[in-house]
Amino acid sequence: MALKADLRHFLDEEGNEIELTDQAKAIFRFLVKIVSAVSENIDQPLIYVDLQCRTRADDVSCRGSIEATYIAIGNIEWHCDTCEVSGTISHWQGSMWDKQKRILH
Ligand SMILES: [Zn+2]
Repeated sequence: MALKADLRHFLDEEGNEIELTDQAKAIFRFLVKIVSAVSENIDQPLIYVDLQCRTRADDVSCRGSIEATYIAIGNIEWHCDTCEVSGTISHWQGSMWDKQKRILH
């Protein structure tokens, strides 16, 4: 099961978080934590995100940890080290969770 996420779907035109359902909010928090961790450690091949798999949504009971990789320009791939859960995140660059931008600009 792969979750393909486009960060823009959670944001308004100014880059602020839109009104989300509780479940969408949980997923959004999960995604931006991965974005922060990866953009902060962009040179590393595999980034250990300080995040437990079960924080993704209420119905996930796995206690595995999340690992993420910067796979291509603008694309992050992440997976749980224990279960099958994985996904990608796109269009996160330039968002307020992109920790690279202070270095690039
Ligand atoms: Zn898991």
